[in-house]
Amino acid sequence: MKLVLATGNKGKLREFKQMCKDEVVPFSDLLGEFEIVEDGDTFAANARIKAHTIYEKLGEEYLVIADDSGISLPILDGAPGIYSARYAGEGVTDKENLYKLIEAVKEKGLKSTPAYYTAAIAIVSKYGEYVVHGWMHGDVIDEARGEKGFGYDPMFIPAGFDKTLGELDEDVKSGISHRAKALALAKPIIGMLKSK
Ligand code: IMP
Repeated sequence: MKLVLATGNKGKLREFKQMCKDEVVPFSDLLGEFEIVEDGDTFAANARIKAHTIYEKLGEEYLVIADDSGISLPILDGAPGIYSARYAGEGVTDKENLYKLIEAVKEKGLKSTPAYYTAAIAIVSKYGEYVVHGWMHGDVIDEARGEKGFGYDPMFIPAGFDKTLGELDEDVKSGISHRAKALALAKPIIGMLKSK
């Protein structure tokens, strides 16, 4: 079975490739670029939608992995949450989303506030569907620091650190991230499915 990743996000693809010993291929290599409508109301629902959309186009020889992820701030009642990719509007850049969230923190009169990332990973193959989750907790601050990572990383300080994910080495992130934790749960499932 061939492993395909249902994401067009370059940051996620880079992290999956770094974390997976298995060769993962982005779906766009096989099917070209196209938009998947993510209209679920949870991370898990959106990960399932992405994985099923690609699996149905590719067929039984494939094992499709999809990640849906985002950042949530309790002070904002969980926003941006599942809307993290389009927090500043449809078709915006990661930087526009980042600066909108920085503004939201500033509007609350805060220098820093608790936040967490969530990743849901859906695995779809001819043997059925699995969904796992991972989380990373920390604080967001009212400015962007560093250029590493992607998305909201320059404003996120993981618990136990004093630097943002924009400043910390990418190896640090791949040891503690929401995606790494979800992937650690996904790996034995993928291994079991591949050996069937
Ligand atoms: P998705 O592609 O619909 O899952 O959107 C995920 C969005 O959440 C991304 O566009 C980022 O804005 C944000 N996000 C998810 N994971 C991370 C991460 O590891 N670092 C920074 N931002 C992230």
